[in-house]
Amino acid sequence: MSQVPQSFAGREPPRSWLSAWNRWATLAAVSEKHPRLQRTTRAVAVGSTVIGGGAPVVVQSMCATKTRDIDATVAQVHQLCAAGAGIVRIAVDNELEVEALAEIRRQCPQAVLSVDLQENYRLAARVAPLVDKIRYNPGHLHHLERQKSVREKVAWLVAVARDHNCALRIGVNCGSVAPEFLERYPGDGLEALVQSAVYHCDLMEELGFERFVVSLKDSDPRNVIAANERFAALRPEVPLHLGVTEAGMPPEGIIKTRIAFEQLLAKGIGETIRVSLTLPNSRKHEEVLAGKQILEDVANGRFLSVPEFGDGLNIISCPSCSRVENERFVELAEQVRELTRYAARHKITIAVMGCRVNGPGETDDADLGLWCGPTVVNLKRRSQKLGSFSYAEVLERLKIELDRLIAERAAAESSASV
Ligand code: SF4
Repeated sequence: MSQVPQSFAGREPPRSWLSAWNRWATLAAVSEKHPRLQRTTRAVAVGSTVIGGGAPVVVQSMCATKTRDIDATVAQVHQLCAAGAGIVRIAVDNELEVEALAEIRRQCPQAVLSVDLQENYRLAARVAPLVDKIRYNPGHLHHLERQKSVREKVAWLVAVARDHNCALRIGVNCGSVAPEFLERYPGDGLEALVQSAVYHCDLMEELGFERFVVSLKDSDPRNVIAANERFAALRPEVPLHLGVTEAGMPPEGIIKTRIAFEQLLAKGIGETIRVSLTLPNSRKHEEVLAGKQILEDVANGRFLSVPEFGDGLNIISCPSCSRVENERFVELAEQVRELTRYAARHKITIAVMGCRVNGPGETDDADLGLWCGPTVVNLKRRSQKLGSFSYAEVLERLKIELDRLIAERAAAESSASV
């Protein structure tokens, strides 16, 4: 058995951890062999913060308030910074939100701000003077200016970032991988994800631009580990932003995130982290506190026992952001969790997403998916649409679909065993 980490020398781990002792000890050994922060990546300056290059891991978070609600967003920037966020991200999708961002920046001059662009990458030119970093999603570049190549679009983004002293994040997600990479790696979504990120790194470097970080996210922590390990092996010099997307509500969301972060951080992989949790706005800073706790535990060799996910019911839900289409989203996610507890032993994934930007795509892989519109919730069974239901009706319909799915699987199992 591996040596007991120094912080636990002379005493036994808690009884509840004993079943995970071998794994815990293995991770501790990894940590001792490769003490945290020994991976050498480029240093990427983001305002007054540095990601990579041996700097402490930066904990970041994202506002879930409406960007156009300037008072609420400014308050949330302060809330997240006070909790220890080194970078705060804000979603911007249109000109009105750009105007709001200008006022948010005016009122938060010290905050290190990042902006999240999804389908409207052309807004980069308007937001770059206001922020320190821009995240774009390579899987969403095809929505606008279809006549232009990806290379031209990336060259334009790089020029904008250079002109305005901004860093960039290449942010790929399993739920929105660029179609050409899915075609190139049929049946291997993880490789498509990794190669898409590598391709964008290559483009930037050909343009002489190295001030970028990469994130490779998925809602399954095992995929997050695999994707980041593959990428880190291919491009060890590029700083990584770690995240388990749609991790869900605490405590499950924190546990899923821990599963991924403990494995990666112990190997020195990860220069900035975000814990994505479905939380009401008043508790959003708990994302930052959870991230700091994980970093502290890993740095001290404290790897916690974690249950395996994926063998029973798995509820994934987005952390929400300014794009969320109805304020009842967090309540809906909690109601889904309560309603479906009776199905805990069934290996079924239910996704609850806050908006139309990522909701339709990121529910495709779930057995049952719900994504919010302003007045209705759209229900799906994998990529099949089941209909739109009011917030009052959707839970009843979800239960019908869940019972149907369980019954179908039971019937398939019993006919297979005959
Ligand atoms: Fe924001 Fe929509 Fe993603 Fe939820 S699904 S985090 S509301 S963009």
